[in-house]
Amino acid sequence: MKKFSCVQGCSDCCIYREYYPAVEYGKIGVLLLPEEKTAIEELARKMNLPVKIIPRLAIGNEFPEKVIAYQMMGKNGDGDLCPFLDVESNGRSPHGGFNCSIYPERPLACRAYPVIDAGKKKTLDGHCQFCKKFSTTEVSSEGLQGEIEALTKIKTGVTAGKSHVWRYATATGKAGDVMLPEGWVAES
Ligand code: SF4
Ligand code: SF4
Repeated sequence: MKKFSCVQGCSDCCIYREYYPAVEYGKIGVLLLPEEKTAIEELARKMNLPVKIIPRLAIGNEFPEKVIAYQMMGKNGDGDLCPFLDVESNGRSPHGGFNCSIYPERPLACRAYPVIDAGKKKTLDGHCQFCKKFSTTEVSSEGLQGEIEALTKIKTGVTAGKSHVWRYATATGKAGDVMLPEGWVAES
């Protein structure tokens, strides 16, 4: 079993955003719980940094009544590049990637990555550069306790209960992508 550690020089998970659940929904941003949204907006205000935070998930029967998760969008036109990733200075993280300028206060989703399912059988995101090098089944969850705890907190925060779930289409992606207009879509 391989113990997880970031690939030397990699910052991919802070740069590249995925289309989810399909291209038509657009690229997603970094998931923020409602209480994190306020904290991130405050940090951005203090740093004089523009950030775009839009809804991600809501619950409600006839219409989205309550937002249960938001998302912080990448700053590039195609939805990539977290606004808090410091790509300007020469500073580098311990593994040689770009620095996160809010690292001690980064969102739970960033703390959880690359763990995407903290069930009995831990699942790691196959998009992560380390997980691309080694089959995710070969990666030990040793050293990922902080990530697993963060994911468990997120899952508790976004439990939908009996209401319907609504997902927000971001209309963000590469030029030429066929996407839904920005707004809520009821999950079937
Ligand atoms: S993609 Fe994986 S290896 Fe690269 S910085 Fe993110 S967690 Fe580390
Ligand atoms: S907040 Fe920090 S850790 Fe999270 S995606 Fe942005 S730069 Fe990366």
